[in-house]
Amino acid sequence: MKQHMRADQAPVPFIDIAAQRKRLGKSIDDAVAKVLAHCQFIMGPEVRQLEADLSAFCGARHTISCSNGTDALIMAQMATGIGPGDAVLCPSFTFCATAESVVCVGASPVFVDVDEKTFNMDLASLDRAIEDAKRAGLRLKAIIPVDLFGQPADLDAIAAVAKREGMIVISDAAQSLGATYKGKRVGTQALVTTTSFFPAKPLGCYGDGGAVFTDDDKVAEALRSIRVHGQGADKYDNVRIGMTGRLDTIQAAVLIEKLKIFQDEIEARNRIAARYAEGLKDVAIVPQVASGYGSVWAQYTIRVEKRDALAAVLSTRGVPTAIYYPKPLHRQEPYKRYPVAGNGLPVTDKLAAEVISLPMHPYLDEPTQDRVISAVREALG
Ligand SMILES: *Cc1c(COP(=O)(O)O)cnc(C)c1O
Repeated sequence: MKQHMRADQAPVPFIDIAAQRKRLGKSIDDAVAKVLAHCQFIMGPEVRQLEADLSAFCGARHTISCSNGTDALIMAQMATGIGPGDAVLCPSFTFCATAESVVCVGASPVFVDVDEKTFNMDLASLDRAIEDAKRAGLRLKAIIPVDLFGQPADLDAIAAVAKREGMIVISDAAQSLGATYKGKRVGTQALVTTTSFFPAKPLGCYGDGGAVFTDDDKVAEALRSIRVHGQGADKYDNVRIGMTGRLDTIQAAVLIEKLKIFQDEIEARNRIAARYAEGLKDVAIVPQVASGYGSVWAQYTIRVEKRDALAAVLSTRGVPTAIYYPKPLHRQEPYKRYPVAGNGLPVTDKLAAEVISLPMHPYLDEPTQDRVISAVREALG
């Protein structure tokens, strides 16, 4: 006998790319069809159009689209001359690509603890990491703060520390494109800002993609060259080591259409986050957005003591959850050999044991939000 799924039992999607696809419908079909007609699959006119649109969106002088968010970080470090012997300070409580990119260019990550309220780089720990990097004989070169779960790190304070120590800042905004810091969208606060268009990010394409933002003409020129094998005056003139770092024209065409509704989606995410907070603040530690900051809610991440029990109960109620991130980078095999700030990263370890993310996407309707809220309340109550 076919089992009937009641609407209040049907599984809730953790993110819902199909709902957005339905909303965009023909506009995406037409945009992709146009590329299929002109056949300029590499660096076609849509790539230039998207770069102009993104520059206008976040206020950056230069946007260099690229293959993915990890390559964006690698290209940013190649373009700013980061390499062996250099210390690059970054969080351990992040997606692995942040530190992986540092190792890829031959430099050494130095892991910094985070603040338990914002999940972002802690300034006292940053100072300790600087002392530890010096003691380890590394050259202080760069700081890579991450805007975790969509809320910017304290980019001005980090820039001030970098300036004091003669370092540069590369901001990993893979989760925070569209977020605001002191009233301005992220993209211009650091020397270089990188982002990702992986489908699950707030602005995702239909495959892999990324971008690098900078106001610096020289860095922009280096990035454009690195993106195409270190190309110089023409295709067969190579002036540096680069890579195949381009964004496909089809992905650019998709992103042009998605960027048009992105601000509307950011507002929807904020409404959902506000409702979640209202419904859950007395039973869990809910995420806070610091005053003067705006989040794009790449994840809605709460903290509870009995996380696994909560996940198990929610799963029986058709409410999926995810853990970002269960194992901090400094505890993972390939990264264990690199320095950590102070005697360890206590906040990172604590968060890794307590965080749990709830379904979050702009098309989560109010009845479904209420279902998530009551399921969490019942499980914790
Ligand atoms: C997703 C992500 C990246 C990497 O982006 P990809 O496009 O998947 O390569 C880097 N840093 C952070 C913080 C991310 O969340």
